[in-house]
Amino acid sequence: MKLILTGHDYRYAVEQSLLAFFPTERPVYEGEDVSQAAVALTLEGDCAAASTELAVNGRTARGAFQTRLPERADEYERERLKQRAVKLSFFAAARSLTGVTPAWGALTGIRPAKLAAGLLEEGLTPQEADRVLRDTYFVSQRRRRLCLECAQAGLEAKRELDPKEISLYVGIPFCPTRCAYCSFVSNSVERSFHLVEPYLEALLKEVESAGALVKDLGLRVRSVYMGGGTPTTLTAEQLDRLLGRLGEAFDLSGAVEYTVEAGRPDTIDAPKLAVLRKNGVDRVSVNPQTMEDAVLAAIGRRHSGEDICKAMELVDRAGFPHVNMDLIAGLPEDTPQGFRRTLDRVLAFGTDNITVHTLSLKKGSRITLEGSRIPTEAEVAEMLDYADPALRREGFAPYYLYRQKYMSGSFENVGWCRSGGTGWYNIYIMEELHTILSLGAGGSTKLVDPEKNRIERVFNMKYPLEYVQRPEKIAANQRAFREFYAARG
Ligand code: SF4
Repeated sequence: MKLILTGHDYRYAVEQSLLAFFPTERPVYEGEDVSQAAVALTLEGDCAAASTELAVNGRTARGAFQTRLPERADEYERERLKQRAVKLSFFAAARSLTGVTPAWGALTGIRPAKLAAGLLEEGLTPQEADRVLRDTYFVSQRRRRLCLECAQAGLEAKRELDPKEISLYVGIPFCPTRCAYCSFVSNSVERSFHLVEPYLEALLKEVESAGALVKDLGLRVRSVYMGGGTPTTLTAEQLDRLLGRLGEAFDLSGAVEYTVEAGRPDTIDAPKLAVLRKNGVDRVSVNPQTMEDAVLAAIGRRHSGEDICKAMELVDRAGFPHVNMDLIAGLPEDTPQGFRRTLDRVLAFGTDNITVHTLSLKKGSRITLEGSRIPTEAEVAEMLDYADPALRREGFAPYYLYRQKYMSGSFENVGWCRSGGTGWYNIYIMEELHTILSLGAGGSTKLVDPEKNRIERVFNMKYPLEYVQRPEKIAANQRAFREFYAARG
C-alpha cells in the first residue's frame, strides 16, 4: 500500500497500523499502488488534528482524530500524543472500510501492558484503565483483561526493585539445527562446531571483566537469564566451566532467579541438568513449540513429541523449582485441533510456567521463503481462544506480554504462570524496569535509569565469529556501561 504522509514522518506508527488491518500489505512510499493511505497531521495552537483517507480495491473511507497538546507536556509526551492521533485516525478509516476491529483495537505498540501500567500509576483504578482501553483504543475484552493483569504484575515487580540492582543476560548463539521460522542470531552447530570452543573462551573472559565492573560500580545481580540459541547445545563440561566462572565473577547470592534455556529437547541429558542444578540454576525453559510430529518436522526440528516427553522426565527428576515451556500458535501445518492437543499434553507435564507465542515471520525466515501452509488468522485466533480459558482453569495467570511485528493476526505472546512461578527476568526486560547487562554475541545491553526515564542500548557483536575476533568491542561496551552509571550517579 502506498503511504502518503503529510505534516509528519511517523512512518513506524502508520506501518504498524497498516499491518494490524492489512497483514499482507507492505508499505511503499514511491511510485503508484492500487491501495493508498494519505495520512495528514496539522497543528493549530494546542490542538493536533490527524486525518486518514484510505483507498483499497476501489473502496474509500476517511477517519479523523483530534487531541489537545497540554502546555505542561514535555516534547516526549507531545510526540506521543501526535503519534496517537495519527494512529487513531488510521484506525477509524480502516475500521470503517473493513468493518473489522482487531483484537488489540488501535493499540499497535510492542508493550501494551506499559500503557496500562502508566494509567494505573497515574492513579486510575483498574476499572477506569479498562474503560480507557475500551473507549479510546477499542481493545477487545479478553485483551484488556490480559493487559491489565500483566500491568499489575509489572507494577508489583517494580515495587520490589532496588536502584542498585541489574539483571544479567548470557547469550549462547548455537543450536543443534536451525528452525525454519528462526529470526535469532543462531548458528547450527553442524555448521559452526569449530566456533563453539573459541566462543566459550572469549565469553569466559568477558564474564570475568564484566563481573569486576559490576562489583566496582556497587551493583547487585537480581536475576540471571542464559538464552540464545540453545545454551544446552554446550556439553556438560562446557556448561560447568561457564556457570562456574559466572558464579566466581558475580555475587549471585542475592539473585531471585537463575534461568537457563534448555530450549531444544534434543540437547537435554541428565549430566547437563545435574551441572545446572549444581551451579544454582533454579529455572529451565524447555521449548517444544508444538507436540505434533508433523509440525515439528515442518519447522525443521529433528525430534518427535515423544522425545519431548523423555526430556521432561529428565527435567522432572533433576528437581528444578521452576520450569517453563514455550509454545507457538500458528506454526506451519498446525491446526486448531493440533494446537489444542499440544496445549493439553503440555499442561499434563505440570510445569509452573507456559509461554504461548504467536508465530512472527520476519524477513529471512525460511518458511516465508518456502511458502509452507501457515494457519489463517481465524485459525490462530481459535488457538488463542482455546489457550486463555484452558490455562486459567489450570490455575495459570498471565504475567507478561509483548507483541512483535509481522505476528499472525497481530496478536501477542503471553507468559503464564501458576502462583509463585513468576519469571521475574521476563518482566524486568519487557517492562524495561532495570538495566540488563548482556554478555556474549547477538544481544544488547539495555541501560535503564528509571528515575530519569532514560533508556540506552549498547549492541554486542552480532555473530560468534566477529565476537571472537573483536574483543575491543566488549571493552568499548563496558566503557559505555561505566559512563552511564557515572552520569546516573
Ligand atoms: S531453537 Fe530457537 S534460536 Fe535455535 S534455531 Fe530454533 S528458533 Fe532459532
